[in-house]
Amino acid sequence: MPTTMKEDYYKILGIERNATEVEIKSAFRKQAMKYHPDRNPGNKEAEEQFKKVNEAFSVLSDPQKKQMYDQYGHDGINGAGGFGGFNANGFGDINDIFGSVFGDIFGGGFGGRSRGPRVTRGEDLKLDVTLTLEEAFSGKEVPVDYTRLDNCSVCDGSGAAAGSQRKTCRSCNGSGQVTYSQGFFSMRQVCPDCGGKGTVVEKPCSECRGTGHKRVKEKITVKVPSGVRTGVTLRVSNGGDIGENGGGFGDLYVEVHVKDHKIFRRDGDNLIIDAPITYPQAVLGGTIKVPTIEGKEMEVTIPKGTQFGEVLKVQGNGMPKLGKKGFGDLLINVKIEVLKKPTAKQKELLEALAQETGGKKSFLKDLFGK
Ligand SMILES: [Zn+2]
Ligand SMILES: [Zn+2]
Repeated sequence: MPTTMKEDYYKILGIERNATEVEIKSAFRKQAMKYHPDRNPGNKEAEEQFKKVNEAFSVLSDPQKKQMYDQYGHDGINGAGGFGGFNANGFGDINDIFGSVFGDIFGGGFGGRSRGPRVTRGEDLKLDVTLTLEEAFSGKEVPVDYTRLDNCSVCDGSGAAAGSQRKTCRSCNGSGQVTYSQGFFSMRQVCPDCGGKGTVVEKPCSECRGTGHKRVKEKITVKVPSGVRTGVTLRVSNGGDIGENGGGFGDLYVEVHVKDHKIFRRDGDNLIIDAPITYPQAVLGGTIKVPTIEGKEMEVTIPKGTQFGEVLKVQGNGMPKLGKKGFGDLLINVKIEVLKKPTAKQKELLEALAQETGGKKSFLKDLFGK
C-alpha cells in the first residue's frame, strides 16, 4: 500500500499528544470555526484545512481510532486489513460532528443544514478473532466470515422493482425534509414519507422490500500482524454496513484474542518458561535443552552455582515487538529438583556430600554469625 506523507493529527489541531478529551474538543472547535466554509466563502485553502481538521477530530475523538493512531500513526488508521486509505466519508456526516460539538452555541446547526437527502455513513461493525501464541508470534492472515448491510443486488440499491423507478417524494418535494410552523417557530424534520431520501419507490423491489439494502455474507482475510496481543483492535476501512443515500460504508473492527499456551507464559514481549534442573547441574553447571515458540529446541548453558529461583535470559528469543523491529527475550525460570525417593546409591552419595559440607547447615549462623 503506498503511503503518502500525511500531516500529524495533533499538529493539525495544534495540541500536544497527551491532550485530554476536553482539550481535543476545544481545539477542534477553535480550528473548525476558523476554517468553516460559511466563514470563508470561496476560499479553497480554508476548505482543505477544514477537511483536515475534521479528519483529525474524527480520529482523535474516537478512543478506538485514537489508540490505533497513537500506536501506528496513519497506517493504523488506514487499516491493517488492507482495505485502503481513509475514505472521503471517513468522518461521516460532518453535520453530525457539528451537531454534537456546536449544538450548544449555534442552537442545533452550523450555518443551516443544506437541503437535500440526508447522507449518513453506515454503522461500524465489530468482531473477534482468536489466535494461538504461535500464530501471534508469526502473524496470520485470518479468514473471516460475517454479514453486513450492502446494496441489494437485485435493484442495485435503488429499492425499486425492475421496470419501475424512484420518483420525487410529494411530501417534501425531494428535499428529504419537511418544515412545521408553530407560531414564531418553524422546525425542519426528516420527511416521514421518504425517510429523508427525497424520493420514493412506486413498486418496491421484492428482494429488499424497497429499502435498497440487504444483509449479505462477506468473506475477507484479516492480516493480523506478528507480535499481536489480546485486546489489539484492527480496523478494516469500509468493512462495515453501508450508509444511507450514498453515505458510504462504516468500518469493521476486529479485536484480537491470544490463547494461553501450555508451556510459555507471556509478559509483554518476553516469554517465560519453567525449566527443571538437577542439584548437580545447579552446582556444577551444564547445558539443558529448552523448547522455543517456533517449535525448535535450543541448548542453554546453566552457569556453575546457579541458585534456586534464578532466571536465565536468552536475548531475542521472545515475541516479536508489535509494529517495531526486534524481539523480546526468553526468560528461563530455573527450578532445582529435589529428589523425593533417592536410590540407595544416591542416598549414599548425598550422605557423603553432607559429611563433606559439614553436616547440617545452620541458617542461624548465616543470619547472626553464631
Ligand atoms: Zn432491492
Ligand atoms: Zn419526502
